[in-house]
Amino acid sequence: MSSTYVMHRSLRNTPPVATRGKGVWLYDAGGNAWLDGSGGAAVSCLGHGHPAVIDAMHRQIDQLAYAHTGFFTTEPAETLAQRLVDDAPGDASHAYFVSGGSEAIEAALKMARQYFVEIGQPQRTHIIARRQSYHGNTLGALAVGGNEWRRQQFAPLLIDVAHVSPCYEYRDRHENETAEQYSQRLVRELEDTILKLGADKVIAFCAEPIVGATAGALPPTPGYFKGVREICDKYGILLIADEVMCGMGRTGTLYAVEQEDIVPDLITIAKGLGGGYQPIGAVVVQKRIADAMQKGTGFFQHGHTYIGHATACAAALAVQNVIRDENLLERVRQLSLVLQQELRERFSGHPHVGDIRGRGLFFGLELVKDRATKQVFDPALQLHARVKREAFARGLMVYPMGGTIDGRQGDHILLAPPFIITENEIDMLVQRLAAAIQAAIESLPA
Ligand code: PMP
Repeated sequence: MSSTYVMHRSLRNTPPVATRGKGVWLYDAGGNAWLDGSGGAAVSCLGHGHPAVIDAMHRQIDQLAYAHTGFFTTEPAETLAQRLVDDAPGDASHAYFVSGGSEAIEAALKMARQYFVEIGQPQRTHIIARRQSYHGNTLGALAVGGNEWRRQQFAPLLIDVAHVSPCYEYRDRHENETAEQYSQRLVRELEDTILKLGADKVIAFCAEPIVGATAGALPPTPGYFKGVREICDKYGILLIADEVMCGMGRTGTLYAVEQEDIVPDLITIAKGLGGGYQPIGAVVVQKRIADAMQKGTGFFQHGHTYIGHATACAAALAVQNVIRDENLLERVRQLSLVLQQELRERFSGHPHVGDIRGRGLFFGLELVKDRATKQVFDPALQLHARVKREAFARGLMVYPMGGTIDGRQGDHILLAPPFIITENEIDMLVQRLAAAIQAAIESLPA
């Protein structure tokens, strides 16, 4: 059977047809099973087929599937928004619901811009982001992201965004500097960029607290985000934390920035918010931003048909209730130790695993040709895609990343299993991954 719709993967090949999911497992019609080691793309935080979420969705659809926000609000949307702002750092007052991560970024960018128009600083027009980043595939989000491979052919359509260096300790920290000094160097670069653009011309700095889709769970170095926050405050610039991938418990705290001890002005969330049960994303908004819009225009000048979708909000609320009621953040922190230990036992001496990094149940492996020099494999070999293929053939889903990133090529593998994974399943995941990496490397031309 050829696919009439999977154009974004291949117009030539068709993937297997997924028919059923239960826990950390996905099945096709033939009964083949795959361990969902990446939660899809760090989405399925509760795994598949969770009865509490399904039940909440049933009840909501029965009562009311959808009511347009131009006329109504709904109880699940209100309850979910309240939960998100109560649990968010700082003085958050509103959550603005959209249908996914890219939409959340678009909304955050526009909200940041509107904020400055409201407070009488319309001259602020610049966005700063980082070269090694992914913020989504719509034109605004793509412009903010730094993934060159994704940007290339659309570059003429993208707004001008200034990109600074990523926080990429494995490759970029100098031998003679500490991690803290490296953080400071990056923060100075951000400040220089702000000054070059004009301190009163910048709207926001946008960054993923833990980089996901371009680098396989890359955490910041100590003090980096504190320094970033200080610089943003110094020049009155907003900080947008993109937690679309790393948020909602994935790193062991509900919001990843909690571990950086900072309060972003806007936080975007998506994947783990609805856990894949419904498409939903959100922007979590600090009160002073919402207050400015309330005093000014009186509303956020934005909107899509499906914002605040009642069934999506009910599903997300159920997901968040399960995370809270089943104490899953604690479980993520415990299982993180198990996963780390297994990864280190398996791969710390591996000749082609250069770096193992991450937090919570969000880990990345960076594959290299030579550990000592950190030399990458020839990008034409597409090693990351080979690992994905070999893993899939062994009943394991892992998320591969490659292509040009920050002017460099690399092969990265992202792991983001559901929070309900067991220790035995972690063991199976790591074993299958090791076999897949081995087979992928053996498949390379001599
Ligand atoms: N931001 C980040 C950090 C992401 O990882 C992603 C998706 N990988 C997005 C934004 C875009 O989200 P979506 O694919 O839901 O539009």
